[in-house]
Amino acid sequence: MKKIIAANWKMFKTAEETKQTITELNKLLENIPLEKKEILIFPPFTSLETAVTTNNNDKIAIGAQDLYPAKEGAFTGEISPAMILACGATWVLTGHSERRHIIKEDNALVGQKTIFALASGLNVVACIGETLEQREAGNLYDVLAEQLQQTLAKLPTPLSPERLVIAYEPVWAIGTGKTANAEDIIEAHTIIRELLKNIIGVSAMQTRILYGGSVKPENAQEILSLDNVDGLLVGGASLKADSFAKIISA
Ligand code: PEP
Repeated sequence: MKKIIAANWKMFKTAEETKQTITELNKLLENIPLEKKEILIFPPFTSLETAVTTNNNDKIAIGAQDLYPAKEGAFTGEISPAMILACGATWVLTGHSERRHIIKEDNALVGQKTIFALASGLNVVACIGETLEQREAGNLYDVLAEQLQQTLAKLPTPLSPERLVIAYEPVWAIGTGKTANAEDIIEAHTIIRELLKNIIGVSAMQTRILYGGSVKPENAQEILSLDNVDGLLVGGASLKADSFAKIISA
C-alpha cells in the first residue's frame, strides 16, 4: 500500500492563503514521482471547498480536521460528515491531541466520531498518543491500548483497510520541535500493530500507521524508513509548500 504524507494545517490559512499554497504545491509536485505516495491535506473547514477546487493533482486528497457524529440537527457550531463530503473532501482527522487536550474530547467521543465518519463514507486518520507524564510513568502500552480500543470498538464491517489510518502522535512531540527518536517510534508503532491485530484481525497488517510530531524535511526520510511507519502526519512543516514538498519527496 502507498505511504501517506498528510498535512494538518490546524487553525492556519484563509481560503485565499489555501489557494496560494495549493497552487504552489501543485507546481512543485510536477517534479516529484508520486507513484508510491498518497498525499492528504487537512485545511480548516472554511478552506475545504477552495482546497478541493484549487487542487488539480489527483494524487492529493482533501480532508477536514474534525466532524460531529450526527447526520444533522441542533448542534451549533458543528459540521457533519455530509457537509464535508459536499465540499468534495473525502478524509477526516479524529482524536487529534489538540482536540483531546484543549477541547477536552474523550476517548468515547473520539470513538463515536471515528465510527460515524466511516459509516458516512469519509476515510479517517484517527490520532492517538501519550503525554510525557504517561510515558514517564511507564503507561505507554495502556494508553495506546485504551485509545485504540475505544476508537475502534464498533467499526463498520466490512471495512476496506485503506479507509482507516492510525496516526501515532506523542503529545510531547507535537509542535514542540522534539521529534521522538527512532527507538521510541519503532516501539510505539510495533505496539499499535499488535493491538490492531487483536482488535481488527488480519486487516491490521494492511492498516497504515503514520508518525506525527515535529516532522521536518531534515528528519522525514529517516522516520519513513523505520519498521511499521507507513507515512507521516505533519503540522508546522506542512504550512509552506516548499517545505511540505521536500517532505513528500523524502
Ligand atoms: C500535528 O499537528 O499533527 C503535528 C504533528 O504537528 P507538528 O508537526 O507541528 O508537530
